[in-house]
Amino acid sequence: MIFDFVVIGAGSAGCAAASGLAQARIGTVCVLEAGPNDAVPQVKIPFGLLYTMGSKRDWNFKSTPQTNADNRIFNVNRGMMAGGSSSINSMVWFRGRADDFDNWQQPGWTWEDVEQDFINIEQLMQPQQIPTPHPLSVAFAKSFRANSNAPPTPERESAGLFDTNSRNGRRWSAADAFLRPAVRSHALKVITGANVNRISFEDGRPKHIELIDGRVVTARRGIVLSAGSIGSPSILMRSGVGPAAQLASLGISINVDSPQVGQNLSDHPVIGVHHEGHNSGYGLVWNQSLQWAASPFQWLAQRRGRLTSNFVEAGAFFRVNPVTADDDRPECQVHFIPYMMGYNGKSITSGAGYFADVGVCRPVSRGSLTLSSADPRATPNIDLGVLKEEQDVQTLVGGFRRLRQLLANAPMADRRAPEVYPGPSVTSDKEITDHVRARCGTAYHPVGTLAMGEKHTPVTNTLQLRGVDGLWVADASVMPGITSANTNAPSMMIGHRAAKLILTEIKN
Ligand SMILES: Cc1cc2nc3c(=O)[nH]c(=O)nc-3n(C[C@H](O)[C@H](O)[C@H](O)COP(=O)(O)OP(=O)(O)OC[C@H]3O[C@@H](n4cnc5c(N)ncnc54)[C@H](O)[C@@H]3O)c2cc1C
Repeated sequence: MIFDFVVIGAGSAGCAAASGLAQARIGTVCVLEAGPNDAVPQVKIPFGLLYTMGSKRDWNFKSTPQTNADNRIFNVNRGMMAGGSSSINSMVWFRGRADDFDNWQQPGWTWEDVEQDFINIEQLMQPQQIPTPHPLSVAFAKSFRANSNAPPTPERESAGLFDTNSRNGRRWSAADAFLRPAVRSHALKVITGANVNRISFEDGRPKHIELIDGRVVTARRGIVLSAGSIGSPSILMRSGVGPAAQLASLGISINVDSPQVGQNLSDHPVIGVHHEGHNSGYGLVWNQSLQWAASPFQWLAQRRGRLTSNFVEAGAFFRVNPVTADDDRPECQVHFIPYMMGYNGKSITSGAGYFADVGVCRPVSRGSLTLSSADPRATPNIDLGVLKEEQDVQTLVGGFRRLRQLLANAPMADRRAPEVYPGPSVTSDKEITDHVRARCGTAYHPVGTLAMGEKHTPVTNTLQLRGVDGLWVADASVMPGITSANTNAPSMMIGHRAAKLILTEIKN
């Protein structure tokens, strides 16, 4: 249990960071992952995400009551297995906008700096469209340009079928692309079922990693914290790195007083609209029983058919407000799902239909994460900050109206179905605002809780924990601002880049 480098968390970023370190042959590298392995059909079959969400491969966190969203408690799903959230996510692949990275205003992280990292990880991930998109998704994909086969882009108003982290009809996670090849080449050891409680310091240097089952793993040269936007700040705070007064009140002794640890939490808020109609989308109806019964065989024999669906097959980006001289960026992203989603509290329900949600690309609301207890089994207080700022509410209301127009105009032919929820009677600003507050969710993209930056931020722009030698953070938590689309690819980019930064640091 002694290694040169230990990476905590085998998620999107952790797998990429660990693989980069292992390939450099700089000593022994180990990854500690709290969850089990990912070698089960419900992870590998894209449609299986219906079953992994809420399962033992999901941390199943809950938010605090969200005061601006009718005091509702939100599910904060996070992958808990090899591959992390890339093993549980909807597989939608986006780099983000080029100026998302420029706007981070961090030396070394401009678009020019990170583009090559995206190219490198895409050589391994090979993002691609699913093999058999539903005709409704194909129709919705034509919302802006009838003849385009290109995926939509947050750079401009566009619609299309999404690229996905799938390969040949099968989920292709960070574990597939980065972890397994490194393990096969004997450069990396992965320990699953290793739930980290805290990091303990020796002579002011982080050295030992204490697991909640009492085992201790020692890192001779460095620790990379890649436990994600919820896990990483929680581990740090349990290790005495965070807001001193708050940690002291929980009986945790302080190693570094870092008030911004856990602050700046950002996620994409989304609001949906449900359509239901016989013969429209996928659903649990008698006339689809044969197709459902045949689908496992089709997947096994051909890697095609409805089980290759990642649900979120198509989407769009659009403006809500008029373009101004200095801002023409799409403000909203749409996810289109050709599947009957329940609107009465259940995700699986009878009937056939389709669903789409619209989200705010760059929300201005911010939440925070604090510990509720020093006990590692306790859920932290996760305030997602949903709709804290009125601007996000207005963007969602405008986005909801425009989404309805797109759905009304998309060339869906005889598969079009009526809106059943919230229903055509909900039209005024007040009614739509009430619907947004009562039903919005998030896209499961929490970022920013250990933002990199200058002076008071927890992490430096070389991903070192400020004020501590030998501890780096590499995951979605270091993003200073959320990217304009889904966050998996940017998280992998951060992991990939982290390995390069660490190698540079230890060689100097
Ligand atoms: C349901 C869902 C759907 C999503 N859909 C999409 C999508 O379609 N496209 C997209 O781009 N993004 C999507 N995302 C978001 C995206 O997957 C994440 O932004 C990205 O995976 C974050 O990467 P990460 O490395 O920061 O964290 P993660 O990938 O979550 O990795 C963190 C890892 O650390 C481990 N860990 C945490 N705490 C500990 C501990 N104490 N000890 C040991 N290990 C620990 C976890 O088990 C996990 O394996 C989705 C996320 C979810 C949950």
